[in-house]
Amino acid sequence: MPTLAEARALDAADPIAGYRKQFALPPGVIYLDGNSLGALPLGTAARLGEVIRREWGEGLIRSWNSADWIGMPRRVGAMIAPLIGARADEVIACDSTSVNLFKLIAAALAMQAPKSNGGRKVVLSEPGNFPTDLHLIAGLEAQGLAERRLAPPEELKAALDDSVAVLLLTHVHYKSGAMHDMARLTRAAHRAGALVLWDLSHSAGAVPVDLNGCEADLAVGCGYKYLNGGPGAPAFAYAARRHHEALQQPLTGWMGHAAPFAFTDDYAPAPGIDRLLTGTPPILGLAALEEGVRLIAEIGVERLAAKSHALSEFLRVAVAQTAPGLPCVSPQDPAPRGSQLSYRHPEAYAIAQALIARGVIPDFRDPDILRLGLAPAYLRFEDCWHAAQALGEVLASGEWERAEFRTRAAVT
Ligand SMILES: *Cc1c(COP(=O)(O)O)cnc(C)c1O
Repeated sequence: MPTLAEARALDAADPIAGYRKQFALPPGVIYLDGNSLGALPLGTAARLGEVIRREWGEGLIRSWNSADWIGMPRRVGAMIAPLIGARADEVIACDSTSVNLFKLIAAALAMQAPKSNGGRKVVLSEPGNFPTDLHLIAGLEAQGLAERRLAPPEELKAALDDSVAVLLLTHVHYKSGAMHDMARLTRAAHRAGALVLWDLSHSAGAVPVDLNGCEADLAVGCGYKYLNGGPGAPAFAYAARRHHEALQQPLTGWMGHAAPFAFTDDYAPAPGIDRLLTGTPPILGLAALEEGVRLIAEIGVERLAAKSHALSEFLRVAVAQTAPGLPCVSPQDPAPRGSQLSYRHPEAYAIAQALIARGVIPDFRDPDILRLGLAPAYLRFEDCWHAAQALGEVLASGEWERAEFRTRAAVT
């Protein structure tokens, strides 16, 4: 068992330890759920106060220009770009991850639909992918636009035949934390004539991503997880520059128009990434997201990823000793692992509740996964040490068996 003194020594030597002070973490709480809802950056409340009182209250409608509200989706997108290996003009912050998935799956299908191309309609994904990803394929299928095909990871390459229009995968699996080989699968898809759409919800801000280096076509990701944009924060969408001109997304609202303020009857898409916009940008949400992204971008993805590896290895070794016999379903090797460790237990829900009662906040994923998320920007090795202790004690004492820990709330 690594000792508390060892944990503290690792914290003392951690080059990004100072960033923890920039988050408003409640005392007495060990937060292992930054991959579900990122913590609140200290600067966010002040920034929102400023946007509300000065930009909105005093500037009123003038702030679309004077505070560059109109440029926010592009500006925040450009800040996210270096975290995912994209160029500044390839990323835009808008809508939810789900809505961006809809736009980009449909756009990919439209690019692949021509008869000259064999009229490809299959969207290939894996069973157990995040529900919204699979549900959106199903929605497009119900519209007659797509055909859903699911294949487990080891069969994806074989499933990539000449009917596949787009391969849609989540880079880091939300339950297991297993990471796909983005470069290899993107190459395989391209060889088969398919486009690739990566969901980076559990990657952006935690693990290195090189969309340009992998020649990825399209991507989406979440603003409220490792980017700390706040509950329901706007998401982001990426399209490689080479696709911009051909990209036709179906939610053709006025903000994606080439000249929104010309108020014309006919739709003409904006020339670049702006064509992914639909309606008026949510300025309060974007301002909060900008604060979160600013901090993460300042720390930089290399330092975050290095710390994430070190934290998860520390925690994995500690839990193996405090809770021996609790099966870890995340990859043992830190390289193909996202910033989390997941454990399987039939009473994972009650165990998570018992941990929360002790001030350690993990999360639970139905039916039997206890997920420990490691947000490297603000989590300490000492926190991991205490979490491993608490988990060991909860399991050994059986305190999770108390009735109050077994009643499920609306949001699990
Ligand atoms: C969190 C998450 C989403 C979230 O989608 P919303 O539209 O924000 O609800 C989508 N995909 C994956 C893989 C996620 O982990």
